[in-house]
Amino acid sequence: MRKNGLKLGVGPMALSALALVAGCGKTGTADETPAKVEAPKAEYGSWGVDTTQGDPATRPGDDFARYANGKWLDTFEIPADLPGFVSFTKLRLDAEADVKAIIEELAAKKSAPGSLEQKVGGFFKTFMDVEKLDALGAAPLKPHLDRIYGIQSKDDLMRAYAEYNVHGVAPVGVGILPDPADTTRYIAFVGQSGLGLPDRDYYLKREDKFVQYRAAYKDFIAKMLTLAGIADGAAKADAILALETKVAEVHWSQEDSRDIQKIYNPMNLDQLQALAPEFNWALIMDELKLSAAPTILVAQTTAIDKEAEIFAAADMNLLKDWLAFHFIRTHAQYLASSFDKANFEFYGKTLRGVPEQRERWKRGVNEIDASLGEAVGKIYVDRHFPPQNKSAMDALVKNLVAAFEERLKANDWMDEATRAQALAKLATFEPRIGYTTKWTDYSSLEIGDDLLQNSVNLADFLWRDQVSRLGGPVDRERWDYPPQTVNASYNPLMNQITFPAGILQPPFFDLAADPAVNYGAIGAVIGHEIGHGFDDQGRRFDEKGRIRDWWSPASNDAFQKKADALGAQYDGYKPLPDASISGKLTMGENIGDLGGIQMAYAAYHRYLDECCGGEAPVIDGLTGDQRFFLSWAQVWRGKYREDEQRQRLETDPHSPPYYRINGVVRNVDAWYDAFGVTAEDDLYLPPEQRVRIW
Ligand SMILES: [Zn+2]
Repeated sequence: MRKNGLKLGVGPMALSALALVAGCGKTGTADETPAKVEAPKAEYGSWGVDTTQGDPATRPGDDFARYANGKWLDTFEIPADLPGFVSFTKLRLDAEADVKAIIEELAAKKSAPGSLEQKVGGFFKTFMDVEKLDALGAAPLKPHLDRIYGIQSKDDLMRAYAEYNVHGVAPVGVGILPDPADTTRYIAFVGQSGLGLPDRDYYLKREDKFVQYRAAYKDFIAKMLTLAGIADGAAKADAILALETKVAEVHWSQEDSRDIQKIYNPMNLDQLQALAPEFNWALIMDELKLSAAPTILVAQTTAIDKEAEIFAAADMNLLKDWLAFHFIRTHAQYLASSFDKANFEFYGKTLRGVPEQRERWKRGVNEIDASLGEAVGKIYVDRHFPPQNKSAMDALVKNLVAAFEERLKANDWMDEATRAQALAKLATFEPRIGYTTKWTDYSSLEIGDDLLQNSVNLADFLWRDQVSRLGGPVDRERWDYPPQTVNASYNPLMNQITFPAGILQPPFFDLAADPAVNYGAIGAVIGHEIGHGFDDQGRRFDEKGRIRDWWSPASNDAFQKKADALGAQYDGYKPLPDASISGKLTMGENIGDLGGIQMAYAAYHRYLDECCGGEAPVIDGLTGDQRFFLSWAQVWRGKYREDEQRQRLETDPHSPPYYRINGVVRNVDAWYDAFGVTAEDDLYLPPEQRVRIW
C-alpha cells in the first residue's frame, strides 16, 4: 500500500472536515481527532510542497519554474526506460505496481474458464511468456498475412480497410461518437489516417532531424517485413514510404484537425460516397457494422477525398505490403522478441530518445489497463480510493464552480446575452469523480493461450462494445478509461469533467496537505477541465453538448482578441533551439491552464473567507498565495528527452511543463503580488499585456 497519510482510523467525515480547514487553526473537535492520533503528514515536504527542489538563487519573477524546481531540473535523471518524467509519471509508476499486484493475485487464483480472473490472468500470462513467443517466431502472423496477401479484388481491399481500422492502420479511421447536433444519440465519424510516423510533418520537414527519422523509418519497415519472411524488404520499404509521403501531403495539420468548425462536416452515406468515390463506403460501413449510423461526421474532408484517390491509384501489391507492414508493427509486442525489439528501437529509441526498453511486466500492465482496465479497476478502487477522497473532491469541485460562476458574472468583456448562455452551460457541468458506476461487461471476450490471437480478440471485443451502442441512447455513465488512469478530462459533447481515482493523489491531491496546495494543484486541474468547456473549441458547444454558436459577435471578437494574444505569447517560446511551441495547437490547453489557475485562486480565497476570515497562515515563511503558486509549479515539475520533446511539439496539444508554469503565472496579477514581481523581472508583463480570459 502506498503511503498516503490517510490511515488515521477516524471516520470519513472527520477527515474531509479536516482537509477543508487544515492550516487555519481549526482542525476539528477533540472527538473528531483523538489526541493520541498524530496529525497527518503531507507526502511532499511538511505541508505539501517539497521546497528543497527549487533554486533559491533564481528570483521567482525571472524564472518561476526554475525558482520552484531548479534543483530538480538540474539533478533529476530521467529513468533510462522513460521518454520523460513529470508528476503524472510517478503516479503512473505507482499505479503500475498496484495493478501488477492485482493481476498477479487474479492470475494465481484457480479460476473457471471464461471468468474475469482467467481473462486478466490469462492475457498477462501469454504476454509474459517470451520463451514461447521466441520459439514461435513469425508463425503466429501466418493466418493474418495469408489473409492480406489473399486479397484479390477491390471489394476485398475495402473489407480489409474496414478490418484493419480495428486491427492496425487503415487509410481512414472510423468510429462512433455522440452526435454534436443531438448528443442523446450516436453517429459515425471518419477521419484521416494511414501513417506510421507520428504526424505529416515527419514526412515533409527538411530539417536534418526529420531526414534522419525518415531514413530510420525506412530501415524499420524493411526490417519488419524481413523478420516476417516477406521478400525484398528494402525495395518495399521505399515504396511504402513513398506512398505514405503522398498521404502525408494531403493530411491536415494538427492545428486544423483540432478545429471543430473545420472538422464538423456531417454527411450521409451518399455525400461521403460523392466526396471520395474511389472507396466503396457502403461496404466499409457494412463491414464495420456502422450502416445504421444516421449521420457520418467526416473530419478532414479534403484529406479523405485525396487519400481515396491515392490508395485507389496505388498498385495492389504495394497496398498488400503496406497493410502487412502495419499489421506487423502494431502487433510487434505480441510477437517474438526480434519484432518487439525492432519496434522499440524505432518508436522508443529513435523517435523518442529512450535508451532502454521498459521491462516486459510493465508493458503487460499497460496492455491490461488499455484493454481490460475496468476488470482490474474495480479492485483498484477498493484498495486505493478511500471514500473520503470523493467527499473532499466534491467540496473542491463545488467551490471551483462557485468561484467560476462569480468570475463569469463579473467579467468585463462579455455582453449579457452571451453571459447568460455561459452561465447556463456552467449549470449543466457534470463532475465525475473516482470511477464509473457502469463497469464494462467482458463476458463475450475470449482469452486463450495464443497472445497474438488474444490481442486480436481484445481489439474485436472493444470494437463490438463500441458499435453496439449505435442506435441506443448515449450512455452518460460510461467512462473512456479505467479508474487507475492518472489523468483528468473534459468531454465537450457530454459537458462532463472526469477525475479518475489515479490522479487523486499527491502531489495533485493530499488530504494531509495545506489547502493552498490542494487548490494550487488539483484545484487548478479541476479549473483547467472546466476551462476546456470555454476554451477556443469548447466554447463552440452549448449546455447540452451540441455545436451551437451562442456567442454574440461582440463577445466573440473580444474572446478572439484575447486568445490571439495568448497564442502569440506561446508562439514565442522555444523549448528546443530549433523548435517553438505552436500557440494554435496548444491554445485549448493554455486557456485551460490560465482559466484553471484563476478559478482555483478565486476558490482558494472563497475557502479562506469562509474558514478563516480571509487570512491564511504563514508557513515556513511562505504566505498562502505563495504556497498556492508553488504547488502549481510542483505539479508541473517535469522534463522530456529531446526527441520526445520534438515529437510533442509536433503532436501534443499541451505546452511543455516548464511553460505551463512560466507561461501561465506571468498572466496572473495575484502571482505578481505574491512574489513582489516588478518590471525589473524577466517574466514581467505590463498589466495591459497580461491575458485574462476566465
Ligand atoms: Zn487539458
